[in-house]
Amino acid sequence: MTFQDLNLSTPLYNALEDLGFKQPTPIQEKAFPVVMSGSDIVGIAQTGTGKTYAYMLPILRSLKFSTQLNPRVLILVPTRELVVQVVDEIEKLATYINVRVTGVYGGTNINTQKKAVAQGLDIIVATPGRLYDLAVSRALQLKSIQKLVIDEVDVMLDLGFRHQLINIFDILPQQRQNIMFSATMTADVEAMITDTFKNPKRISVAASGTPLDNIKQAGYKVPNFYTKVNLLIHLLQDAEVYHKTLIFVSNKRMADRLFEALEQQFPDECCVIHSNKTQNYRLRSIRQFEEGDNRILIATDVMARGLDIDSVSQVINMDTPAYPENYMHRIGRTGRAEKEGSTLVFTTTKEEAFLENIEQLMDMSIPQIAFPEEVEVSQELTPEERPKIKEINNPLKRNKNDEDAPGAAFHEKSKKNQKTNQGGSYRRKIEQKYKKPKTRGDKHQNNKKKRR
Ligand code: AMP
Repeated sequence: MTFQDLNLSTPLYNALEDLGFKQPTPIQEKAFPVVMSGSDIVGIAQTGTGKTYAYMLPILRSLKFSTQLNPRVLILVPTRELVVQVVDEIEKLATYINVRVTGVYGGTNINTQKKAVAQGLDIIVATPGRLYDLAVSRALQLKSIQKLVIDEVDVMLDLGFRHQLINIFDILPQQRQNIMFSATMTADVEAMITDTFKNPKRISVAASGTPLDNIKQAGYKVPNFYTKVNLLIHLLQDAEVYHKTLIFVSNKRMADRLFEALEQQFPDECCVIHSNKTQNYRLRSIRQFEEGDNRILIATDVMARGLDIDSVSQVINMDTPAYPENYMHRIGRTGRAEKEGSTLVFTTTKEEAFLENIEQLMDMSIPQIAFPEEVEVSQELTPEERPKIKEINNPLKRNKNDEDAPGAAFHEKSKKNQKTNQGGSYRRKIEQKYKKPKTRGDKHQNNKKKRR
């Protein structure tokens, strides 16, 4: 496919030619018709796949010239660096288009940004906090926003921007197109999609250039987390093979739990990164791993994203990712730059369906290694693994209908609360007084009788 097939405008073709881009990347090809159609869209794509232009090409294609002051497109990104980068990319693409783009982010003078916004603009690129401040102070009107782009939503949620995003959604027009991009799928991202989107179209591409041929893949079937830990400890004894091992876990809790267990076995050989660790701690961990001071690094999907660490010898998946794209991103951390890499994935019975999805995406099956006999199978379960207690047919359990079943506490209602509303209080008073129903008709009747 070429850019000609996308039916772009001449100014866009010219800008692309200046940039030297010959053909759309897979994510651009997939996203273009969906964004043009106006429906909500969720794109799963890593940085480097051309995702910025995947949403910018169709947005610029459909944006009409306007002199109105309020922006019509809002692009939210997690960091100020990304604001600068996205603004820069848009400006390159819009070289021959009359479009006003402004970037705003926290940590700098808000008054300068208020002035910039007051000049009028079409597209605003922002970090959530600063955008909200500008909107609340009324320096920025969001009532004309037609398209909302949330880029790197997994990082945003991991950094704790969820509430800020919700606050922003509340002040945006209901009628708008939502466009979301994320490199990884997490439970938080999935929840945000269901809460915010109207039947979004989903598109995804595997990490570009994941050199599957360079990476030796294998798996173990393991019953539970602590058995996975035992197996991992067993494997890591071989410091030669596992001399630079990146271990992926699905969440922070798991990362801390695993770090605790490995620290005991391999003191001063492990480090961990996840978003609850300070920036300094994370940088130090990465440096120690990179320089070979620590041979084991435990990381969550989102945190490991930006890592471009040389010659990772092994990637170990402690869990089997529910989204196959995450697996592709993880294993792409090894086998880089034509080097041989190796990866293992641990799968519980519950995770077997995920493994099938991964194999389907890669169109190959992952060879399974027999569980080593010398490794102890743990009976200990994590809180998440423990079965939810459902007591069916427990003879000691009291039935709801039992006389002595605990229910709502019972006590006599006070006199006042015992009253029920019977309506027509005047009629009832008259009834009591005359001992028989009195209606208007009756009254006349009675009067007539009196007169006679
Ligand atoms: P992104 O995934 O948006 O961070 O883009 C990664 C890099 O790819 C950026 O430097 C873009 O300028 C570049 N890029 C975007 N689209 C294309 C394309 N169609 N062909 C070649 N490079 C591209």
